[in-house]
Amino acid sequence: MIELHLHLDGSLRPATAMELAREQGVEAPAADLEEFTDRYMRVPEDCPDLETCLKRFDIPIRVLSSPEAIRRAAKELTEDLAGEGFSYAEIRFAPQYARFTGFGQQEYVEAAIGGMKEALGAAPSMKAALILCCMRGDDNQQENEETIRLTARYLGSGVCAADLAGAEGLFPTENFASVFALARKLDVPYTIHAGEGAGPESVRQALSMGAWRLGHGVRAAEDSELVRELAKRKIALEVCYTSNVQTRAMKNGEEHPFRLLYDAGVHVTVNTDNRTISNVRLADEIGKIQKKFGFTDQDIAVMQEYAREAAFTRL
Ligand SMILES: [Zn+2]
Repeated sequence: MIELHLHLDGSLRPATAMELAREQGVEAPAADLEEFTDRYMRVPEDCPDLETCLKRFDIPIRVLSSPEAIRRAAKELTEDLAGEGFSYAEIRFAPQYARFTGFGQQEYVEAAIGGMKEALGAAPSMKAALILCCMRGDDNQQENEETIRLTARYLGSGVCAADLAGAEGLFPTENFASVFALARKLDVPYTIHAGEGAGPESVRQALSMGAWRLGHGVRAAEDSELVRELAKRKIALEVCYTSNVQTRAMKNGEEHPFRLLYDAGVHVTVNTDNRTISNVRLADEIGKIQKKFGFTDQDIAVMQEYAREAAFTRL
C-alpha cells in the first residue's frame, strides 16, 4: 500500500500523546486513555462543525513541541505503517511550529528524519519520506522560506518535497507565490493543499504556481472545465474522503465527487489525512470508498498506481 497524504500530528498514537501531555504538564484531564482519545484526539462520528474538528489538533500540536517528541512520533508512525504492510508513505509536518518553542526548524526536521529512519531500519521492505509543510498565514513569510530551504537541504536524505497547509479560505494560495518561486529556484518539488476549504479558483492558483500534485483538490469538481484540465495534465489529487466529510469540504458524503473525478480520468489517490484524528487507516478508507462509491479492486489498483506515479520518491 502507498499513501501520499498523511499528517504526523494528526496521526500521533493516543497513548503517546497522553504520556507526553503528562510528562510536559499539559492540562488534558481524562479518566483513561479511551476518554482522552475521544475528548482530545478524535473527531466525533458526527462532527457538528469545522471548529470541533480542528480543536482535535490542539493537544497533538502542543505535545509535539520538542524535537524529541517529533522524533518519537515519526518513529512510531513509521512503525505503525510498516506493521500494516505499507510499501511507501509520505509523512508531512510543519517544522515551523518550532517558532513558538525556542527550537529551530532544522532541529525538528533532523529529529523527524532520525525517528523515521530508525523505524525504517527495522522494516527493510518499506520506504518513506517526509514532506515539509509551509503554513498559510500573513506573518510567516520568512519561516516559510526557511522551510523551503530546509526541504532543499535534506532532499533525498529523508525529505522528498514541500507543501502548503493551513486555512485555505483565509489566506489564498496566490499570497504564497514568492515561496513557490523560491522552491522552483531551488529545485524543490511540492504539493499544495488546495480545493478543500476553497473552491476551483484556489486549485487554479495552485496549478499556476507549478504544482502537479494537489492535497485534496476535490472542489475542482465544481468546475467541469477544470476537471478536464486535471485529467488531461495528469495532475494527481491526494483525496481524503473521510477527512473531507468531517471538515465539511462538501455538505455530506453523498456530494463527495470521488467517483465523478475518477470517471473523468483524474488521477485520484486514496489517503487518510490524519489516522488518529479522523480515526481511519488506509485499509479502512479503501473499504469505505469501495462501499460508498462502488469502486472495484481493479479501480483501487489503478488509484494505487496513480499514487506510485505521483510519489515524490522514485519507486
Ligand atoms: Zn492535509
